[in-house]
Amino acid sequence: MKIHEYQAKEILQKYEVVTPRGIACFSVDDAVNAAQQLGGEVWVVKAQIYAGGRGKGGGVKVAKSLDEVRQRASEILNMRLVTHQTGPEGQVVHRLFIEQGVRIEKEFYVGMVVDRRQQRVCLMASSEGGMEIEQVAAATPEKIHKVFIDPVAGLRAQEAQDIAIKIGIPEQSLPQAIKLLQGLYQAFDESDASLLEINPLALTAEKQVIALDAKMNFDDNALFRHPEIIALRDLDEEDPVEIEASKHELSYIPLDGNIGCLVNGAGLAMATMDIIKLYGGNPANFLDVGGGATAEKVTEAFKLMLRNPKLQAILVNIFGGIMKCDVIAQGVVAAARDVKLAVPLVVRLEGTNVDLGKKILADSGLTIISADNMADAAQKAVNAAKVQ
Ligand code: ADP
Ligand code: MG
Repeated sequence: MKIHEYQAKEILQKYEVVTPRGIACFSVDDAVNAAQQLGGEVWVVKAQIYAGGRGKGGGVKVAKSLDEVRQRASEILNMRLVTHQTGPEGQVVHRLFIEQGVRIEKEFYVGMVVDRRQQRVCLMASSEGGMEIEQVAAATPEKIHKVFIDPVAGLRAQEAQDIAIKIGIPEQSLPQAIKLLQGLYQAFDESDASLLEINPLALTAEKQVIALDAKMNFDDNALFRHPEIIALRDLDEEDPVEIEASKHELSYIPLDGNIGCLVNGAGLAMATMDIIKLYGGNPANFLDVGGGATAEKVTEAFKLMLRNPKLQAILVNIFGGIMKCDVIAQGVVAAARDVKLAVPLVVRLEGTNVDLGKKILADSGLTIISADNMADAAQKAVNAAKVQ
């Protein structure tokens, strides 16, 4: 799960990570009021969307008067912000963050991720902050320093100091940098984050070390322990199809092909997409209906797939283990009737009660293309999609 920059900063402040003062807003008037409330002479108006690269896309602007705050806020609010992370369709800005403008002397990069191979949280830091860290990693990997953090000891002061020195934090700011890095790790650990990125971590003209940007992602499997984080979820930022899917406990990921896949089990779903590709087709989605799919769930799954205007065929690939083929067949027939299915439907059933399942499909009167195995099913789906 992702959250907005201002929400991540609120979490980090609880761990004594210094950030500029700021106020989140939903309207231009609120933005001006926020700037007034914050005081000072320089503010930064920041688009709040889940993607990064907002600065380059025109979503982060400096304002030097309240009039300018109003102007910048009205430019950014409701704009369709395109960054290298949003894709060409961009993301509409519904929230703003008004922050104190900080005088930056130097920008650094700090990130944390779970490193699977080391089975530890990896702290990465670089003197090359502010810009796209991916480019730094590709062109000059030696400029990214790493510490693998011991889960029992946490981030030791010595380790934090060493990495701070490596990236060029000046001596007088080291105690502050150490405290900030330790606060970041504590926040990461206690909130079950999967990613935390401060880009840039800034050294101000006053030699203060401060987090100017903050990105946090969380491990979905640990969210049950964090109702306070679940409460931050912003549905405006999520794909409506994926929201609908999660309501019905379906794992659905839209892709850009034209063959809809309805499969039970993530492994079989992956194999189904692979075999469609093998026969020259393109899957329109990944969809795992899970082990205990009911007729209602199958109907919802059909509805999700049919929202895609590019859909030209559907391949249902079910292995009846715990789930019985006759139950799935009933679900498929009910769903096809319910949604008035107009694209070709290929069904491959195997496993418990397969004969009964096939009979239900055959007796339904629906034009269902029956397949005997996965290869057969994939070829039939690819051909059916071509004919459309
Ligand atoms: P993004 O990474 O999405 O482009 P950032 O929050 O990193 O957004 O902002 C982009 C740039 O804007 C930063 O690298 C920094 O130079 C500047 N910036 C951001 N917040 C402030 C602030 N409060 N004061 C001064 N400059 C800022
Ligand atoms: Mg940034």
